[in-house]
Amino acid sequence: MHQFLRILRIGRPYRRFAVLNALFNLLATVFHLLSLLLFIPFLRLLLGQVKPVHERPLELWTKDGLEGTFNWGLTRLIEVYGNMGALLTICLLVVGLFACKNLFRYVALLAITRFRNHIVYDLRQQMYGKLLDLPLRYHSNERKGDLLALMTSDLHVIEFSVMQYIEMVFREPIAVLMFLGTMVTLSPGLTGISLLMLPVSGLLIARVSRSLKKRSARVQEKDADLLARVEETLTGIRVIKAFNSEAAMQHRFARENELLMRAHVSMMRRQDLASPLSETLGAVVMAAIAYIGGSFVLGQEPSLGGDSFLGFIIIFSQLLAPIKGFSQGWSAITRGGAAAQRIFDLLAVENTVKEAADAQAVHSFDHQVEFKEVSFAYDNAPVLQDINIVVPKGRSVALVGTSGGGKTTLANLLPRFHDVTGGSVLMDGKDTRGLRIRDLRALMGIVTQDSILFNDTVAGNIALGAPGVSQADIERAARIANAHGFITQLEQGYQTNIGDGGNRLSGGQKQRLAIARAVLKNPPILILDEATSALDTESERLVQEALFKMLEGRTSLVIAHRLSTIQHCDEICVMGQGRIIERGTHDQLYAAGGQYRKLCDMQAFGQ
Ligand code: ADP
Ligand code: MG
Repeated sequence: MHQFLRILRIGRPYRRFAVLNALFNLLATVFHLLSLLLFIPFLRLLLGQVKPVHERPLELWTKDGLEGTFNWGLTRLIEVYGNMGALLTICLLVVGLFACKNLFRYVALLAITRFRNHIVYDLRQQMYGKLLDLPLRYHSNERKGDLLALMTSDLHVIEFSVMQYIEMVFREPIAVLMFLGTMVTLSPGLTGISLLMLPVSGLLIARVSRSLKKRSARVQEKDADLLARVEETLTGIRVIKAFNSEAAMQHRFARENELLMRAHVSMMRRQDLASPLSETLGAVVMAAIAYIGGSFVLGQEPSLGGDSFLGFIIIFSQLLAPIKGFSQGWSAITRGGAAAQRIFDLLAVENTVKEAADAQAVHSFDHQVEFKEVSFAYDNAPVLQDINIVVPKGRSVALVGTSGGGKTTLANLLPRFHDVTGGSVLMDGKDTRGLRIRDLRALMGIVTQDSILFNDTVAGNIALGAPGVSQADIERAARIANAHGFITQLEQGYQTNIGDGGNRLSGGQKQRLAIARAVLKNPPILILDEATSALDTESERLVQEALFKMLEGRTSLVIAHRLSTIQHCDEICVMGQGRIIERGTHDQLYAAGGQYRKLCDMQAFGQ
């Protein structure tokens, strides 16, 4: 319920739609009620019981006044047009009232649709914004599935169950109250008696539907089991065939299939029971009311007219639908609570990498980047300790070492993907935490091991983050990245769509596009994180060349697995377990015969 109110709060800017909806629904209910009430004079007319009223009553807005005025009109009608004419008028009036009711119902729906969809739109925008805003460390692999589920199935629950019923919660109580009010004016005693019967039948129906819920959960469980089995079979089909185990698999499948079938049958039994049961119960209630109400009509001192009694029954029969609608809506909204909770939890996650309120703008990089006494820990486990590195402008520093040594983590500290837990990262002597994040990142280009491309054209991918650049610039960047050649051979050249994640290209081609992107951005500082590790030898050579061209004259932090890539770097830092264990130039380190030498020897590479 609490979550539901929060969702409604999102809809605040659109509350005029909700107000309109309530208003139109109210009007629709009024017309609905009026059309039902017209049955009373209709019956009177048929049974020849119209009490002639020749004087127009003086007061209008009381029960007697309204009734009198109506009867006066009806008497006039009969006098002028005869009984048939009056009948026709009443019939036309019923049609007119129904048309009005449905017209208002329609505009009410139009209004609530706007309301609902604006809320879902806003929620989706907020969630996507949050995904973009959250710090990198929040986005680990296992979270990806959760986040996707939030954006799809949880949002769907909100969209299709909560929002679907959002109106019911407001509309149905109004209808119930108005119907009840009319019933009370017709016969307070009978209303009391019928109200007593409702809970009894309601409880019975609730029991059936509860056991139905349990059974449908079982069906879903079995269904998921079966799906998992099918998926397993599809992935393992080669092994199944190779080991001649089709029959065994078929047998196992049959067992699970049968469980699903049984669960289904058991559920359907209950489900099919629900509607006949509730209808029978409804008939019992109706009959009881008809009997008791009939005694009011037929008793010694009739306290209720036959026509009013029938009107009462008709309105009572209409009372059940909104009650049912309300309880359905209510349960849908409570079920949606868990999904809403998860969504609000995500929206409440704070970005730990915050921009300082007085962040300074930076537009150039002039002297050096420095890691000073840097230490870093993901969730208490120290990953980096005592890191001191200076990268002067125009120089390149390489990080090498075993996997898991903390190289990527260190590189991620520079653009503030994470914040240091100790020490500081300085740009031209200023702590990066005091600089504007956008400015800081604009000074850097990053090429990682898995080139991240988007489902867009080649040109669009190269120009990411640099909208409005000219085709000539894009081509120049592609040439530097050794990519121009293969791009021109694509069907539509630079306008070729490269598919999801660029999977229509080879690994080397993708990497060269990623490099072209970095070249186009033309940042003073470059970060290369294993940019060639995922490539075969031939593409590696092409990418390598591209990288050398790009690195010329730039400040760079290069992480490489292949040592041939970094032997010309001005300083090489060998990292192990979060510390720098050796540092120097290639020649110095090779001669020193330490860890670096070992790595070189393993790659059969040296002087
Ligand atoms: P390298 O790039 O040198 O292979 P990384 O910087 O990727 O090493 O990782 C260093 C250590 O930090 C590893 O032990 C790894 O398990 C841990 N690590 C990396 N990313 C995360 C993360 N998002 N959350 C927690 N631990 C992480
Ligand atoms: Mg790494």
